[in-house]
Amino acid sequence: MTRSISILGATGSVGASTLDLVRRNRGEWQVAALTAHSNVADLSRLAREFEAEVAVIADERHYDALKDALAGSGIEAAAGRKALCEAASRKVDIVMAAIVGCAGLGPVMAAIEQGTTVALANKEALVSAGEVMTAAVAKHGARLLPVDSEHNAIFQCLQGGRMEEVRTITLTASGGPLRTWTKEQLDKATPAQAIAHPNWDMGAKISVDSASMFNKGLELIEAHHLFPVGLDRIRIVVHPQSVIHSMVEYRDGSTLAQLGPSDMRVPIASCLAYPARMETPMDPLDLAAIGELTFHAPDEERFPATRLAREAAQAGGAAPAVLNAANEVAVAAFLGGNIPFSRIALMVERILTETELPSPPRTLEEVLRVDEDARMRASAMLEHC
Ligand code: NDP
Ligand code: MG
Repeated sequence: MTRSISILGATGSVGASTLDLVRRNRGEWQVAALTAHSNVADLSRLAREFEAEVAVIADERHYDALKDALAGSGIEAAAGRKALCEAASRKVDIVMAAIVGCAGLGPVMAAIEQGTTVALANKEALVSAGEVMTAAVAKHGARLLPVDSEHNAIFQCLQGGRMEEVRTITLTASGGPLRTWTKEQLDKATPAQAIAHPNWDMGAKISVDSASMFNKGLELIEAHHLFPVGLDRIRIVVHPQSVIHSMVEYRDGSTLAQLGPSDMRVPIASCLAYPARMETPMDPLDLAAIGELTFHAPDEERFPATRLAREAAQAGGAAPAVLNAANEVAVAAFLGGNIPFSRIALMVERILTETELPSPPRTLEEVLRVDEDARMRASAMLEHC
């Protein structure tokens, strides 16, 4: 039996891993929509290869180029934010939400409103919308399958368990490429150094988040919404080998962990096949070759991001959306060479503490307004950096 899939952010790192799995099981999948932001060349190539029904480019300025690239293929070309949401609303078995940033929120909500199963990689969308998204999932009978490797690990460890029997959840963190750097060295970290992740091959934004530990901060908030055990029961431990992807401790003292290679095709496969299992090209895990698994507490002096995220999650309301927006602006500024690495956390902290928080958003439109306002404030702050 074939299953249908739409992939939002098809030209990115998670998009490529998803399409690799679809390619290996070509006869089993029908591709409905593929989307990108501005990468017409890859989007049109992928749409042709996978015989997609529609290809959507978010940036409307590229519409003519996409139309030309798809001429004669029979594939529909579309552009703009509205087209992106329409593509996400198509009736399919699963939507892979792999756009980076809060830009993916509207399309994710559009898929949820159709009651669709959403494989969620786009953590910024859940961090920003929080209860607005989880309420929509419940209201429309949709389902979120966590793609993020830690949350996917927790999801797997919870199979057959009961949430009320969970004592703690532990998110593992690789610590990123700058894990051992001193504060002075961190000040001088370049984008190339911050992106050079030792274990994972990912898009630029999440790579910087991984180096700053904002990725783990966002994941803490993500876990808080996906697994309602209470924020104080969600822990973070640095585990540089990235072999254990996260753990669940039950009240009888048993801790279940999910182990695997640092390859996103593993958690993606678990979502695509859920509740079954599918074949992936992964080599068996060779623990003897890995030799050692080590763990230590995060250093929130050098990497304040997890503290800031915990505080934002505790404050609730608009705070996580503001934290996310400020971080997105700061990361873009760092990648553009406009601010030093350590300014990312400083900027986020200033936005959260020096400006008044908007009232808690209750609708998608209100979340988007909070996001937009925080971006404007963060951008204005950049000018004084
Ligand atoms: P990439 O930067 O590699 O890809 C992002 C994708 O989103 C591309 O298809 C890009 O299109 C598209 N996109 C970017 N901006 C916009 C926009 N404004 N509107 C519409 N589409 C847009 O990111 P990743 O694949 O690394 O990450 C995607 C998401 O998954 C992120 O939220 C990340 O945190 C999460 N994630 C990623 C992991 C990884 O291993 N990479 C692991 C766990 C989570 P274009 O190519 O045209 O720019
Ligand atoms: Mg992760």
